[in-house]
Amino acid sequence: MPGTNLTREEARTRADLLHVDAYDIELDLSSAREGGTFRSTTVVRFSANTPGAATFIDLVAPSVEEITLNGERLDNANFADSRIALPNLAAENELRIVADCAYTNTGEGLHRFVDPVDGETYLYTQFEVPDARRVFATFEQPDLKATFAFTVTAPTGWVVVSNSPTPTPVGDGDSQVWTFEPTGRISSYITALVAGPYVGVFDSYENGDQKVPLGVYCRPSLREFLDAEAIFDVTKQGFDYFQEKFDYPYPFAKYDQLFVPEFNAGAMENAGAVTLRDQYVFRSKVTDAAYEARAATILHELAHMWFGDLVTMEWWNDLWLNESFATFAEAVCQAEAPGSKWPHSWTTFANQMKTWAYRQDQLPSTHPIMADINDLEDVQVNFDGITYAKGASVLKQLVAYVGQDAFFQGVQAYFKRHAWGNTRLADLLGALEEASGRDLKAWSKAWLETAGINVLRPELTLDGDGGIESFAVLQEAPALPAGAKGEAVLRPHRIAIGLYELTDGALVRTDRIELDVDGPRTEVPELVGRRRPAVILLNDDDLSYAKVRLDEDSLAVVTEHLGGFTDSLPRALCWASAWDMTRDGELAARDYLALAVSGLGRESDIGVVQSVHRQVKLALDAYTDPAWSEQGLARWAEASEEQLRAAQPGSDHQLAWARALAAVARSEGQLDLLAGLLDGSAEIKGLAVDTELRWTLLGRLAATGRADEAAIAAELVRDNTAAGQEHAASCRAALPTAEGKAKAWASVMESDKLTNYVQDAVIAGFQQADQRELLAPYGAKYFAALKGIWETRSHEIAMLIIVGLYPSLQVEQATLDATDAWLSTAEPAPALRRRVVEQRAGVERAIKAQAADRAAGARALGH
Ligand SMILES: [Zn+2]
Repeated sequence: MPGTNLTREEARTRADLLHVDAYDIELDLSSAREGGTFRSTTVVRFSANTPGAATFIDLVAPSVEEITLNGERLDNANFADSRIALPNLAAENELRIVADCAYTNTGEGLHRFVDPVDGETYLYTQFEVPDARRVFATFEQPDLKATFAFTVTAPTGWVVVSNSPTPTPVGDGDSQVWTFEPTGRISSYITALVAGPYVGVFDSYENGDQKVPLGVYCRPSLREFLDAEAIFDVTKQGFDYFQEKFDYPYPFAKYDQLFVPEFNAGAMENAGAVTLRDQYVFRSKVTDAAYEARAATILHELAHMWFGDLVTMEWWNDLWLNESFATFAEAVCQAEAPGSKWPHSWTTFANQMKTWAYRQDQLPSTHPIMADINDLEDVQVNFDGITYAKGASVLKQLVAYVGQDAFFQGVQAYFKRHAWGNTRLADLLGALEEASGRDLKAWSKAWLETAGINVLRPELTLDGDGGIESFAVLQEAPALPAGAKGEAVLRPHRIAIGLYELTDGALVRTDRIELDVDGPRTEVPELVGRRRPAVILLNDDDLSYAKVRLDEDSLAVVTEHLGGFTDSLPRALCWASAWDMTRDGELAARDYLALAVSGLGRESDIGVVQSVHRQVKLALDAYTDPAWSEQGLARWAEASEEQLRAAQPGSDHQLAWARALAAVARSEGQLDLLAGLLDGSAEIKGLAVDTELRWTLLGRLAATGRADEAAIAAELVRDNTAAGQEHAASCRAALPTAEGKAKAWASVMESDKLTNYVQDAVIAGFQQADQRELLAPYGAKYFAALKGIWETRSHEIAMLIIVGLYPSLQVEQATLDATDAWLSTAEPAPALRRRVVEQRAGVERAIKAQAADRAAGARALGH
């Protein structure tokens, strides 16, 4: 609908015309327990610089009751297609709109959730990108900032939290009224409201005269698991670090963090009222990687309070900068803040952000970091690995290029200059140029306006005694997939080269050379005349964004001794490089499996271990020759069981290997072990078979036909929580019967009753690599239903289905053909086309990787 899909041009025209002063928003949530709709009354005061001109305000609502502009009642027919036409503006305007808005179950707008544990209703808002208009009438664009004053009527006894501090409610009956102070001038997408019988824990951040109240909230059913102290600790480290580096005090009155149910993203940076997914309140044992990820999210959102909330992009084309900055900030804070528990954050960054970026940057949909964002549909599909992960990687490269001190000096000037305002990229680059004295135009052009990943390869010759005769770094232009936007160029790279020697099985760095790589071939004279070390690692310390290849001798040493690197970062880089080669068909999937089987037992970084687990499983499901894959899966299952039994009791590694085994267990003995762990007849010393692990074990037993509906129902009795219901739905969808599959399919495709989380769980259970034959009929059904789903479901829900139910497991030419036939006849909207094309690329890549794996198998057999 054009009404909901605001274009950049429309936003610009509206921003040129209007200055918005203030919103007064009254929301009557006394109907929350029943659901349906709620009354929303918006009064907005704004000026127009061209009296007599017309504009519109955005609203997504079932109905409008009143539109009054400057005292004059307008026809309700002015509300059409999610907009309200506002003709004949005065210089100063007051607009009053009364509407009935709808609660949602999709995580967009005002989400309504009922906790099965206590039967209580919990609400929260999620507005980015354009969903504040589902709750009140608003000029929905980030550069029309205003103050927002919320008045909320809600059931007596509820907790109501918004951007401003929570007032004492008034009234005595079933409902009470909370009247919040107006916010500072902020964008509508970072306003927020969280309401329900949530429970809070309180503290404060104190620094000299400054005192910022802190709150942490969750549902009562999760309270026993809420480790508020740990959350406050990280939050305070972030306050200390960011206030010092940004040289600007925290800009809002208080800082609440609310763990809310069925949240689509990781978290959202609402000003002073951050919402986070409540899986971050851990019900069962998780590994340290989960605590690290949560801390990173906490710091990410906190950094947004300055970058994004205080100073905001003018339009969504700079979303990448907003997200990249926060992503960079979370990592640098974890690496440097005194007392940080995760000073190895750059290893995690390499392991996760970089691999995400490299994957996304090789899809046909790749695009320059500075993307054309012509409308809201563009921005919604651009919440991708380019925006978050490549952007952050390139920002890391920019910091290496200008120096970290100059970088933060520039950032400080930027915050002071643009506080409470809106900016473009040039404003930040200008501030960095002033601080560093470097011209960033060429850098910006090479890194931000082009697409793809350069490949860096070493080229060396040795003399007869093992001395280096010549050494150069070769740079290749990105191999852009057909149809990709952007130019494939060579770029300036600031990199380090690490030299490693092998001593008693340990790979120790003996020297490091930092240099600029530019053009197709860069000589490295510093290396000439030296004895060749065991490993030469390009892009050591992960300063730049590039695919890196090892020379043959280094590759041989790394393959045998990957676990021998004494530092976690070079190990992570080599794991990533091996995975990247596997995806590219340069390393056979079976060889990647062999590397994981031999090297992973020595990997101490739990985040890396878990990433490799996922990658091995993907390689076995999609990248191995189908004639051989069962052998590979069996080998991986055996290795997982061995590692599980050998792991230190109670350790994170033990839990990670238990999950790895549960993902792949196939022999009767392995399935007996899973069943025994579940019913208590088997034990692995130190392994706590707690709530979440029980569901993981049951999921595999259900998928293999070893557990039935009765077993699932019994487990749900043990854990009748929202999470339990999601797991049960997933287990049911995993059952290996035609009937089970048909039921799961219908529940997602033929009804919109499932909440976002249950739907996600059903899709995850439905797609089982071991059930290709059962799933085969659903490819045609998928394509037949796709357009209807896109047209009738909300954005988040449609995306879950489009991505989740694509026939990715059918790795064959027929899948590509069916996709092409659909693409050529369905005339899909660009955002829909893009998602389908991305899924197609995954199958195409898998077909190539299978061919490489088949060839390696044939070579091994001597053919
Ligand atoms: Zn963010």
